[in-house]
Amino acid sequence: MHITMVKKRLASGEPCRKCAQAEELLRKRDLWNRVDEVVWAEEDDPASPGMVLAAQHGVEAAPFYLVKHSDGPVEVFVSALKLIKAHLATPKASPAQPYDVASAREDLARATPQEVVSHALTRFGAECAIAFSGSDDVVLIDLASQTGLPFSVVVVDTGRLHAETYRFIEEVRSHYGIEIHITAPEPAELEPFVREKGLFSFLEDGHEECCRVRKVRPLRRALGGYRAWMTGQRRDQTFITRSDLELVEEDTAFEGKDGALAKFNPIANWSRDLVWQYIRDYELPHNALHHKGYASIGCQPCTRAVLPGQHEREGRWWWEDERAKECGLHPSKSDS
Ligand code: SF4
Repeated sequence: MHITMVKKRLASGEPCRKCAQAEELLRKRDLWNRVDEVVWAEEDDPASPGMVLAAQHGVEAAPFYLVKHSDGPVEVFVSALKLIKAHLATPKASPAQPYDVASAREDLARATPQEVVSHALTRFGAECAIAFSGSDDVVLIDLASQTGLPFSVVVVDTGRLHAETYRFIEEVRSHYGIEIHITAPEPAELEPFVREKGLFSFLEDGHEECCRVRKVRPLRRALGGYRAWMTGQRRDQTFITRSDLELVEEDTAFEGKDGALAKFNPIANWSRDLVWQYIRDYELPHNALHHKGYASIGCQPCTRAVLPGQHEREGRWWWEDERAKECGLHPSKSDS
């Protein structure tokens, strides 16, 4: 197997930022020495070797990778993570070792979000699912992709998300070159519920039942295939239900493939302002709804924009009491 990485050099002479990030990722994973050859695509020279290869293989973005096997066609990858998964992945940590949440919590007591994410992925790799809601928890995917370690991403498609959120999920998928495990309500549960109670029962008798059918059960089914999960929950999201949030917890709501499921909340200590500073500093993709005054984003009928100075959770289930503003995915300690 022969791996060629094609990197772009800008007309200014500088290497492109995405190419530098991809090289950094391969170096962090100790995989840089597996790249046999680097070919440059000069932005202002269509005859440069990299530009010629791009044209030959119909690739528009850089970096990209060509994998040549002695006896087969050339494979093309536009994502370092997909290349790693296909050809360079290292064996996973032994699942037989039980995970000690209490000692991990002690070890990580003063850890940064990046350190918590690295710890989780070093231990669980692709068996740790990042629960991505299509909102500012994109920060977790960015932190995970910087580690160069394998990870999984799960999205619950309730069937009631905004069009902007679907577009954003797709943008994140292509921006990071990752696969997204999209889980959805079981028709056998959803259809009788909607037939009996209609599409807006949550306005009459609270959101609990609808959230159970559309969010909690699909997530429960999905998490049953993993050993750990990661959320973008923060203590400042609500002082009533999330004030005692830990960086590492044993999940009390769901079970993983081996029973107990470890739960990581790497940005538990961050404020909303810090999250947005990160998104701006690193120019992360983000949901267009944030430009329309939306702070916390969930399903379309149960989310609205907030006014400057209003708490982000005031845009969720605004017709209900503050204590009821959880959907069952994250029970507080007082619920357990
Ligand atoms: S947020 Fe609203 S629409 Fe979405 S699952 Fe819950 S109650 Fe149903």
